[in-house]
Amino acid sequence: MDALSEVFSGSGEGISWSFDRENSYIEVAEAEEDLEAHDHAIRIVPDGTEIAGKKFNIAGLGGFGTQAIYLNENRLKYKDPIAVQQGNPLSKNWNARGITKSGKLIIKYLFAHEAGHTAYLPHTQEDPSKVGKDFIPKSYFANYRHSTGNGLFDGKTIMSNYENGLMSIAPVLTPRQIKVIVRRNNASMLNNGMQSIGEDYEGLVPDY
Ligand SMILES: [Zn+2]
Repeated sequence: MDALSEVFSGSGEGISWSFDRENSYIEVAEAEEDLEAHDHAIRIVPDGTEIAGKKFNIAGLGGFGTQAIYLNENRLKYKDPIAVQQGNPLSKNWNARGITKSGKLIIKYLFAHEAGHTAYLPHTQEDPSKVGKDFIPKSYFANYRHSTGNGLFDGKTIMSNYENGLMSIAPVLTPRQIKVIVRRNNASMLNNGMQSIGEDYEGLVPDY
């Protein structure tokens, strides 16, 4: 929840956005049958669990346009970021607060990243031919200065592919990414009660 408030709040290019924590109604369900159509299911599952016909052996999975997020149980231990210390060069980077000693993204930001996927945000490095109307050029991210007042976030967002681009990740989104979510929402492509991930989750959904 802290991560959602942190990552999904911001402003820039004439818009501002925030995560409505008060009205999010997030609670722990005891069983799958407790799920209602408006619920988002965040499942913490063991490594190797079969999801949509494949063995799940990565950190997390968020289905585009679904209300389903899977987090690998083996990442729950990644919750303590390395300390920010004076004189430690890593302290000069946001990642000092977002990664563990072993260089793993901590679980709360992993969750926020997957939440971005459910709202149709692709990785910032994604191929334009796969992303269609949602494509945002790399140059935009490289030049984007966040209005957070923290220059260490500039040029970075939560939607980097953290498996191979950890050093370019930060707990923020840009106005253009927020506009992607709004467009998808306006096209009635969000919150349709899809609480599981289909076979085609690796491909991005068709344009709208
Ligand atoms: Zn991802």
